Amino acid sequence: MLIIGNGRMITRNPECPFIENGAVAIQDNTIQMVGTLEEVKKTYPDAEFIDAKGGVIMPAFINTHEHIYSAMARGLSINGYNPQGFLDILDGMWWTIDRHLTLEQTRQSALATYLDSIKNGVTTVFDHHASFGQISDSLFAIESAANELGIRTCLCYEVSDRDGKEKAKASVMENANFIRHALADESDMIAGMMGMHASFTISDETMELCAANKPAEVGYHIHVAEGIEDLHACLRDHGKRIIDRLMDCGILGEKTLAAHCIYINKHEMELLRDTNTMVVHNPESNMGNACGCPPTMEILHTGVLTGLGTDGYTHDMLESYKVANVLHKHHLCNANAAWAEVPEMLFTNNAKIANRYFKKKLGVLEKGAAADVIVTDYIPLTPMDASNINSHILFGMTGRSVVTTVCNGKVLMKDRVLVGIDEEKILADCRQEARNLAKSING
Ligand SMILES: [Zn+2]
Repeated sequence: MLIIGNGRMITRNPECPFIENGAVAIQDNTIQMVGTLEEVKKTYPDAEFIDAKGGVIMPAFINTHEHIYSAMARGLSINGYNPQGFLDILDGMWWTIDRHLTLEQTRQSALATYLDSIKNGVTTVFDHHASFGQISDSLFAIESAANELGIRTCLCYEVSDRDGKEKAKASVMENANFIRHALADESDMIAGMMGMHASFTISDETMELCAANKPAEVGYHIHVAEGIEDLHACLRDHGKRIIDRLMDCGILGEKTLAAHCIYINKHEMELLRDTNTMVVHNPESNMGNACGCPPTMEILHTGVLTGLGTDGYTHDMLESYKVANVLHKHHLCNANAAWAEVPEMLFTNNAKIANRYFKKKLGVLEKGAAADVIVTDYIPLTPMDASNINSHILFGMTGRSVVTTVCNGKVLMKDRVLVGIDEEKILADCRQEARNLAKSING
């Protein structure tokens, strides 16, 4: 039994959202009790104790769109890279990296990304992977990194025809193999999806191959209308808009996650809602790639389950929260926009999305939920209560405020020190592989 207590506690349980001096008791991988420190300590007097030191105790974060393959891109300069638009960014940077990644570099990228996720209090990661140089076993290499660090993850490989039919087929098979493996696993720590890059790099034939090889229990994870080019290609080649094409190909549904959705209209939003398809918004990435601002508020108000991701741009969900908050206010010329919607995406909807793949209840501190808990060192200057929790988080914390991270009942970081993880060794190996990757790209 483990108790984390002596802090202000945010539970995300509407019946009891805030406890001034709270504590949570954990047995194995499950939350056993939530209450005041006094109550919890009285019930379990012999439990091991983690002192929150007056900071904030809350459910760990969930990232619903991530790219571990981008880990070694930081500071990387590619000879001749001078993008003139989104397609140049994809081909010149991301596809160049993924074509060179070895299996070991994929594994190291996963270790680096998951390590940083833990430091930012993120314990559930939905990744979207590509490594067209070594497709086979790449998802298993990522899974081994997740297992090693003790993080929960849902993986997929992005199927695409961009490197030819054979590689597209190998990608489909990598997804199918991994999905079957994940479905047979009972740890509730891994899951798989059928990954797809985007409509504009996938033929109807490849769409059919994906459908033929996808177990019925899972859905698709696909980029949708991230660039205007994706929409133009769909109108030109298929005579319809992207969500209509995905509908006709049987891609939509309650297990499918559509990233971005920048260039979609009201009719497409209604199709997403009516098929119960999930959407994930990645504000920093969209701004950084100059892709445009998605109509995320309208998508949410239409009733589409919409979460928040980082798209590999950062591993800090609070950075994504801050950027989404200002992006939509700026975009809509409305200082009142997004106050309620962005926290709903991050704290409520990401948990709903994750729970379409993981059985144990995530994103909440309550009896029976997964023991995924974090502590931040934030001590408020101004009064904090149930009515203003999200403002305190938005303006008072960053990912680096997280001092303690617990995933599935296991302490992964305590007082900013990683537990049972040799960070120096992992990062030294990763740095070496990053040098090797840069060399293989630039010669
Ligand atoms: Zn992405």
